[in-house]
Amino acid sequence: MVRSVHACNFARTNRGRTRCPAAGVRWAIALIALVAGCQPGGRTTAPRTRSLCGEAEAIAGSRAGAALEERLGGTVAHAAATDRMRAVERRLARGTPELRGAWQYRILASDRVDAFSLPGGLIYITRGLYERRIGNDNDLLAAALAHEMAHVIRKDSLKPARGTAAEALEREMSADLCAARYLQAAGYDARCLTDLLRLIEDAQPPGWAEARIRALGARPAKRAGSLAHSNP
Ligand SMILES: [Zn+2]
Repeated sequence: MVRSVHACNFARTNRGRTRCPAAGVRWAIALIALVAGCQPGGRTTAPRTRSLCGEAEAIAGSRAGAALEERLGGTVAHAAATDRMRAVERRLARGTPELRGAWQYRILASDRVDAFSLPGGLIYITRGLYERRIGNDNDLLAAALAHEMAHVIRKDSLKPARGTAAEALEREMSADLCAARYLQAAGYDARCLTDLLRLIEDAQPPGWAEARIRALGARPAKRAGSLAHSNP
C-alpha cells in the first residue's frame, strides 16, 4: 500500500482517533504509482535542485497534492510565507546537507491547524496553522518545516502502515527526533519544536503533545511568555 500523503495527525475525530484528510485519495494514488513506473514526464522539480525521490513517487505526490488541495478548499497565494519558508529551508540545509533539494511550499486555505508532506518534497501548511499559531515566529516555522521535512526524508508516507493510533504516534515521535537534529544543526534552539507541540496541543489527539514532548527530552519551554497565538 502506498500512502502518498503524510498528514501530521494534528487533527482528531470526535472519537479521539487520528484521521487522514487525504485518506480518500490513498488508493487512487497507489494505482497511479503502479502505472507511472519510470516513464518520463510530469517533472515538478527545478532542474538544478536535487530530486528528493524517484520520478514515480514525485508524480504520485503531485497528484495527491492536487486532491488534497481540492479537499481542503484550495491554496492561497502567500509570497511572504514562501519567502520565509525558503529562508528557513536554506538555513536548515546549511546545517544538514541531506535537506538540500527541490522543496515546494503551499499554504492551504483551510482554517484547521495541520500540515502535510508529500513524496517529492511538497509541504503544505494550513492557513490556520500558519497565521493563527506560527504567526511571525520564525523558530516555530522552522520547527514545523523541519518536522515535515523529516517525514519526507524518512519516506514515512510510502511505508506500509497498519493505521493504528500507536503506530501514528510513534511515527510522529520519530520525525520529531529527526527534526530536532535538523534544528540543532542549523543553530535553532531545538526547544522551538517543544514550543510548537505545546502550541498545537489542542489540535492533536489527547495526550499526544505530552508524549511527543516527553520523547524529545521534556525540555522546558523556550519562551514561556511568547506562546500565545500570534497573528502576523
Ligand atoms: Zn508529522
